[in-house]
Amino acid sequence: MDLGHLAQLCYNMTESYLQITNGTDVINGTQEAIRITKDQLLLDIFKKWNPFNDALSFSFNGGKDCQVLLLLYLSCLWEFFMLGVSSSQFDRKYHKFPLTKLPSVLISQEEVFSTVDSYIAESIDRYNLDLYESTPQNGNHIDMAQAFENYLNLYPSTKAIVIGVRYTDPFGEHFKPLQPTDSNWPYFLRVQPILHWKLENIWSYLLFSGEPICGMYAKGFTSIGDIDNTLPNPYLIINSTNVKPQFLFSKEVERSFYQDKNATNEINITPLQPIDIKLIDSFEDDYYPGWFLVDDAKERAGRIKKQ
Ligand code: FAD
Ligand code: MG
Ligand code: MG
Repeated sequence: MDLGHLAQLCYNMTESYLQITNGTDVINGTQEAIRITKDQLLLDIFKKWNPFNDALSFSFNGGKDCQVLLLLYLSCLWEFFMLGVSSSQFDRKYHKFPLTKLPSVLISQEEVFSTVDSYIAESIDRYNLDLYESTPQNGNHIDMAQAFENYLNLYPSTKAIVIGVRYTDPFGEHFKPLQPTDSNWPYFLRVQPILHWKLENIWSYLLFSGEPICGMYAKGFTSIGDIDNTLPNPYLIINSTNVKPQFLFSKEVERSFYQDKNATNEINITPLQPIDIKLIDSFEDDYYPGWFLVDDAKERAGRIKKQ
């Protein structure tokens, strides 16, 4: 599917989430979270930098947070494109979606899970990412700041990079939706439009979307770092003393965008391969899947602190 159709699909998916009525508290909260993110992108960021020029880039590491942001970002790209179409004197048929690939960047990390690696490879294809991947120098991984400096040297038109950080991330409470990098980093603007999202919002929107999610989450991981510092979340271990946590997202799965035939038929786009819904509420391993954990304070409980 080309980027224009994908952006349209993400727009339709997001609109159909926003139209859910009689939802749960989580759904109502997520609808509000989506509106705030959309306003930031459409009314602020895309006014500063036209997303169809090469001033904006997207930081992608295959995690759930940047996946949520990617789907919303694409949805906003479609909305931005259609706003341009409606204010033009020329008919819709004379307008072509201006991007074929999304400029994006991944900084390579020490030791990455192969599941994450293959998920990133699938995402490059599925989401039409033009993904720059940093390479180690002299066999050593370089730190993120240096890697971004190299990226900016290669793509000097980049003014701002979109990031899926949230207020509940370490040191995240002081972040702003738009802020420059720190003084010891190469200079560019950080665009952070999902700061206000909570874990429950992330899972609600993702499970509704029906998009394939990185396989680590089905195995009880809730936050993914390097191999040597990441374990499944101990709060999700299945044993006789742990009561099965509540699954909060049944409505999202029941009303999933991919099950909504009207939503997809209407635009005449065949949906991408949906996730196996049966997987959502089942588990065969020693851990409940990541979406059973919604307490933001416990999201990183599977991370081993580096000495
Ligand atoms: P995660 O949830 O893993 O990551 C949050 C988001 O960061 C992801 O959704 C993704 O958008 C992005 N991201 C994370 N890891 C990667 C990666 N390997 N490659 C590409 N994108 C990734 N720290 C500072 O101290 N000062 C800075 O000025 C600063 N600027 C940054 C600018 C950018 C574009 C990025 C991506 C990071 C920057 N950081 C900076 C580091 C940032 O604050 C986080 O520490 C870092 O993103 C790791 O996130 P996490 O593992 O805590 O959370
Ligand atoms: Mg995260
Ligand atoms: Mg990380």
